[in-house]
Amino acid sequence: MASKYGGYMGKVMLIDLNTERAEEYPWTDEDRELFVGGKIMAAAILERHLTGKEDAFSEENWLIISTGPMTGTGAPSSARFNVSGLSPLTGILASSNCGGSFGIYLKKAGYDAIILKGCCKELSWLEIREDGFFFHNADELKGMKTSQCQQKLSELLPEKNFGRLCIGPAGENLVRYAGIVSDERSAGRTGLGAVLGWKNIKAITACGKQLTPIYNKEKTSAWIKNWTKYLRAHPLTGDTMPRFGTANLVKPMHLHGLLTTRNYSAGRFDDYEQVSGEKLAECFNIKNKGCISCPIRCARTVSLDGRELKGPELESLVLLSSNLMNNDLQKVLEWNWLLDELGMDTISTANTISWAMEAKEKGLWNNGLEFGSTDMLSAVFEDIAHRRGIGAELAEGSKRLSEKYGGRDFAIHSKGLELAAYEPRRAVGQGLGYAVSNRGGCHINGGYAVIVEGLGLNADPQTPRGKADITMLLQNVLEALSAAGQCIFTSYGFFPAILLKKPDGLLVGAVNRLIPHLGWAMRIINKYPLLLAFHLPMVHHTRMFKYALGMDMNFGKFLRLGERGYNLERSINCRFGISAENDKLPKRLTHEPQDKGDKRTVVPLEEMKTVYYKARGWDKNGIPTEKTLRKLKIR
Ligand code: SF4
Repeated sequence: MASKYGGYMGKVMLIDLNTERAEEYPWTDEDRELFVGGKIMAAAILERHLTGKEDAFSEENWLIISTGPMTGTGAPSSARFNVSGLSPLTGILASSNCGGSFGIYLKKAGYDAIILKGCCKELSWLEIREDGFFFHNADELKGMKTSQCQQKLSELLPEKNFGRLCIGPAGENLVRYAGIVSDERSAGRTGLGAVLGWKNIKAITACGKQLTPIYNKEKTSAWIKNWTKYLRAHPLTGDTMPRFGTANLVKPMHLHGLLTTRNYSAGRFDDYEQVSGEKLAECFNIKNKGCISCPIRCARTVSLDGRELKGPELESLVLLSSNLMNNDLQKVLEWNWLLDELGMDTISTANTISWAMEAKEKGLWNNGLEFGSTDMLSAVFEDIAHRRGIGAELAEGSKRLSEKYGGRDFAIHSKGLELAAYEPRRAVGQGLGYAVSNRGGCHINGGYAVIVEGLGLNADPQTPRGKADITMLLQNVLEALSAAGQCIFTSYGFFPAILLKKPDGLLVGAVNRLIPHLGWAMRIINKYPLLLAFHLPMVHHTRMFKYALGMDMNFGKFLRLGERGYNLERSINCRFGISAENDKLPKRLTHEPQDKGDKRTVVPLEEMKTVYYKARGWDKNGIPTEKTLRKLKIR
């Protein structure tokens, strides 16, 4: 349905894979105002469709690939697309975000989103063009790794420039944490690659020549210049990230006890310098790379045995090194590349392996895997992707394995999704975020409170005080940002440069001491965001809504948008039985102090949850109340 707003192509298509027919899904300007795009738009569509009885591997599981309105406008770091559906790993709502070319080209083909329902009769690849949707037999792509498959697609299409995504062997073989790859980027988390595999879709291409409409071209272009300049001058987005990528955090994480080590049994790794961002830059980096339209360019290209490969980002680096007691950076590079080739989430894979290593050590499962013993791991990853030998079991993820063999206390997941690389016993707000996050143990969907608990600022990482309100605020910001179609790393620009330049200065010390006492102020903001009816100088996103879309937006409305998205996703999950009981962390993190001599080094989860639910307007059982849903126009 055509839109009065810029940023939208005005078409969402529902594609029935059984009949190979497509029809337009009704999506109005009112929907665009309330749910904007990307993951929130997908959640709104799924909220209308899902009853709570569907299974991830079923025809009723709609897989939605959606863009945000910023994608295609030229806004910094906005070439993103989102994939949503039910996760085969968690059984609840999943979303995963990717910086590959597909989103840009989906819009060039004339579509804001596609919804895939049903299942193809045979393995297929789907070609999206301005004049329609074309299904092709994909036998010749079957079993291909992701780079080979994408290369083959280039040979099959006449155009030089087009967007593509595909799954690897892991997706074809329904590994529960299989991802979707586009160019060198991945929608890695939550197993939606397996859903695509279940639907018998090996790859999707998109091409076209349409331009994303812009409401006010002059103002938009000036604002993009201003924003890009700001990001280039900022110490994080203009210096640290381009120089070291996210791997720059290895050292501070070690120093703060946040560096996940030995299946989350510790937060410091003696050999951290051997796997640090500095070491990576010194020994392996050839150049940094970026997604389309990104001035930050956090991605790495590394040299390994004469090959030029995509380098690891932080999560992969930590979880494939310290978490497995591996100090060989070369192996990390090799595995990171291999896992992308197989189309498998590095975070869940590494966590499942570290759980299996500990289970072997404790005599629960004789699987041959041992901490620090890494020679066989490449073969194990291949076995997982093809579901061979122990790989068939590892393909199920740590939650299911711990239910079968025992060892639930050290299966490091929340709602079935394995946690990211930040050890939360030294950043308890991050621990709360992992537990309540809508998609399970995700650092970003959890709010990334670690940024004020050691990485960036250092506001008492052990105190629960103020953390629930901070977490909620950050979650709402990241939710809105992601729905707009923007990379979350643009939020690094929110940090006042002055605080980053003098981390040991008096000002930073005062801010750190103050933050835990500002819970009340954040609660007021969280409760009445619309009072903030203005733009903040460092949050450039809100003015882009005005200039590029012609949509009324300010910081308060931006927060409300994120809040709406978060509650919408939660209410879908509640339909699938999620409640306070599921907002959990493994016992290791809540009952075993990281530092045996300091009882505070656990996550005081229940205490923070109570405050968090109240702040969110959820009942004691963690269910959004009718009043909250009505306030947010979800009901
Ligand atoms: S900051 Fe990194 S992940 Fe984000 S858009 Fe840029 S290159 Fe891609």
